[in-house]
This record gives sequence, structure tokens and C-alpha cells, in this order.
Amino acid sequence: MTKRIPLALVGVGKIARDQHIPSIAGGADFELAAAVSRHGKVDGVDNFENFDAFLTARPDVKVVSLCTPPEVRFDMAKKAIAAGRDVLMEKPPATTLGEAEALSALAAEAGVTLFATWHSRFALGVEPARLWLSDKTIKTVSIVWKEDVRRWHPGQAWIWEPGGFGVFDPGINALSILTAVVPGPILVERSTLEFPENKKQPIAASIAMRTVDGAPVSAEFDWRQEGPQTWDITIETDQGLLRLSKGGSELYIGDALHTAGPDREYAGIYERFGALIRARESDTDYQPLRLVADSFLCGERKVVASFED
Ligand code: NAP
Repeated sequence: MTKRIPLALVGVGKIARDQHIPSIAGGADFELAAAVSRHGKVDGVDNFENFDAFLTARPDVKVVSLCTPPEVRFDMAKKAIAAGRDVLMEKPPATTLGEAEALSALAAEAGVTLFATWHSRFALGVEPARLWLSDKTIKTVSIVWKEDVRRWHPGQAWIWEPGGFGVFDPGINALSILTAVVPGPILVERSTLEFPENKKQPIAASIAMRTVDGAPVSAEFDWRQEGPQTWDITIETDQGLLRLSKGGSELYIGDALHTAGPDREYAGIYERFGALIRARESDTDYQPLRLVADSFLCGERKVVASFED
């Protein structure tokens, strides 16, 4: 067995604890050597409150996984790249396309690996869906992504601030699947963004898009759904219907279940990161971020009732 690569986790919050720590421990490529967080700590590793202090103190830890909110990602990724570290970024990769593209250029110049992750692309149904669709003609695409913000983002004030993405924080997951399975660019035509009167980011969005061949693509994002949660993408083709359900973890062709199984999204992310580092390559696809940006550019603002977390 090859030696595990020491890695530092930055931003010990919900996703770091729920997914990154167990996936690093369960995988073969990395060992958690350090954590950087102002309030959180990880038992049994070197803990730092400050990213600069970590970079100086642990030159032996050459890989960092950034699990902070997007608004602080650019500065941290830029410092890590300048310090010669390989970098994994949680989604969304940055606050703006400009920042994301600048990071790609800096990583290429420095010769380090930069991995802009989209965890939903590692859901079990996504790759078989892409393969099934590759020789079909797409007629329509319908995305319904409705969840309860109180359940998935408890106490996360940053998500409602400028640069926090609002309902596009989960919505970008759907867009990451869309751009993985449908070939060619997707174009935004118009959108309606619902802003609670006491919030700075949208709680719901309705987006009209089209494929480059003109097939209509609709997306409904809503953060007010209590009870059962909905993360579905339905694609009508010349040869039948495909449906990705439960965030891409279940694939149906027609009415028949085609692919399903236990969640391996973050296990898949760390396997891919290991392979990228070994090959000295980067993986930075910013199409989902571009669709979010275009939805804001084409967006009509609608003010709706106040919302309390
Ligand atoms: P979170 O629970 O708020 O954790 C983020 C951590 O980043 C915080 O614990 C905080 O730790 C640190 N941080 C550093 N600078 C910060 C700042 N300016 N504002 C707030 N926190 C700051 O958020 P999360 O849910 O883990 O999300 C982190 C990233 O993962 C986001 O990009 C999100 O989209 C993505 N993600 C989240 C989920 C999910 O279900 N929650 C799923 C997939 C991906 P310290 O205060 O200790 O520094």
C-alpha cells in the first residue's frame, strides 16, 4: 500500500464533519494531519486558528481541503497555491467567475493541482445518466430542487449575505449535474428570483434555460419545503424518459430503476483528488457557477414574505 498523503482541512463546520473527515479516514489516499478553524477543532491532529500560521508551521502538509464558505475561498486558495500546496475546493468554488478563473490561472502557473469539486457529480446515477444520454436527442429538461433551509443550513448566517448564494447554494448542485449529463453549453434565457424582504439573497428561483440545440430546460429552486425533500431532474428524449432522483443517487429509465446504492459522493471526490495529484493535473469546470451568474444577470427580483431561520 502506498503512503497516505498528509492533508489539512480548513473550515471545520457542517460539511467538514459530516462528509470530509469520514471520507478522508475511509479512503486510501490521504491522512488528516492538520485542521484550520477559528472555532472548530479535530481531535488527534495539529489544530490552527489561522491559515497563515498553518502554512508557515506545516510545510510538510502539501495538500489542503477548503471547506469554508465561498466568500473566503479566493484568498485562502490564492495563499495555498502561492505556498505550493495542492488545493481541493468545496462548491461553490468562489464568489465570482472572475475569482474562479484567476485561481485556475494561478494554479497552472504554480504547477499545483486545483480541484473545484461538485459533490453531486459523484452521485451514483450521474455517470450512467451521462452515458445513456450520449446517443439520444434531448427534448426537454425539468429540474425541481426543493429543500428545507432550516434543516440543511442551521444557523449559517453567511449563506444569506452577498456572496453566500442563497438558494443557489443547493441549486448549483442541480446545475452541476445538468452540465455533466447534457452535452454542450446551457444558456439562461430569464429567471425570477424571490428575495424575502429581510434577506439579501434569494430563497427561491425559477429559471428558464435552453440547450445549445434549443431544447427547453427549466429549474425550480425553493428553500421553503418542509417534509419530504425533492431533488429531481427529469429529461425527456427521443428514446424515452430519464429521471435522476434524490440528488442524483437514483437513476430511472422510464419507470424502471437503473442505478441506486449507498452514498459515495465524498469518497469519490477524494479518490479523484488523489488521482489528480498523482497525475499532476487540475480539474476546474466552472459551468455551474456561470449558470448561477447568468441567472442573476437575467434575473427579475421579486420581494416575498420575511423568513426567519
Ligand atoms: P459551515 O457549517 O458554516 O462551516 C464553514 C466553516 O468555515 C465554519 O465552521 C467556519 O469555521 C469556517 N469559516 C471561515 N471563514 C468563515 C466566514 N467568513 N464565515 C463563516 N464561516 C467561516 O458551512 P458548511 O455547511 O460546512 O459549508 C461550507 C462549504 O461547504 C460551503 O461552500 C457549502 O456550500 C459547502 N457544502 C455544504 C453542504 C451542507 O450540507 N451544509 C453540502 C455540500 C457542500 P470557523 O468559524 O471555526 O473558522
